Amino acid sequence: MSKIAFKAESKRLLEMMINSIYTHREVFLRELISNASDAIDKMYYRTLTDDALTFDKDDYFIQIEADKDTRVLKITDTGIGMTKEELETNLGTIAKSGSLAFKKENEITDGHDIIGQFGVGFYAAFMVADTVKVISRSVDSDEAYVWESDGAEGYTIDSHDKQSVGTEIILSIKESTEDEDYDQFLEEYRLKEIIKKYSDFIRYPIKMEVTKS
Ligand code: ADP
Ligand code: MG
Repeated sequence: MSKIAFKAESKRLLEMMINSIYTHREVFLRELISNASDAIDKMYYRTLTDDALTFDKDDYFIQIEADKDTRVLKITDTGIGMTKEELETNLGTIAKSGSLAFKKENEITDGHDIIGQFGVGFYAAFMVADTVKVISRSVDSDEAYVWESDGAEGYTIDSHDKQSVGTEIILSIKESTEDEDYDQFLEEYRLKEIIKKYSDFIRYPIKMEVTKS
């Protein structure tokens, strides 16, 4: 499928984030875990109203997997998932004009505040990743899709063979440079530290697996 360009505002916000929030790069994980948790919440509420579905506690969790060899960090949830249309609308437009307008009005220059206060969380992934893939299957769909983007130019959406309902976020972690240490985001102790710091209150189990070379 051909690339769809981000809306102009999205591109501006993305550039702003990527260029100005480096001191707090680690918050990307908080944002992705919080989205995973929200998705499981939505699934839980769905099971309350849909008799065909049950909520078995053991089926709902968030999994973090890191592979140092391939530099892949994967965040999987067994939440409600996204349809093709939802991938498009939820991940295709970032800066709801509201947050940009707010920024202008209040002359906020620290991008971190924007991330903390507005729903641009998912895009924090591009602070640490060259490419982001989102593989998802919605509880409302028989088909799965993969959304992929390098953050700068746009994204693609294609069919995928994922069978289970839920979402996998696959980050290709950037190479470390003299100034920036990205390798830390593939280290088990560091990931645990970040989870403890920002995601301690999450009420679903967070499982972790790290493949070392
Ligand atoms: P917010 O969480 O504040 O809405 P985000 O940028 O973090 O903003 O996420 C945008 C939207 O993308 C979410 O509202 C949700 O609809 C969708 N989304 C993101 N991650 C997931 C996920 N793991 N499972 C299901 N939907 C998701
Ligand atoms: Mg969020």
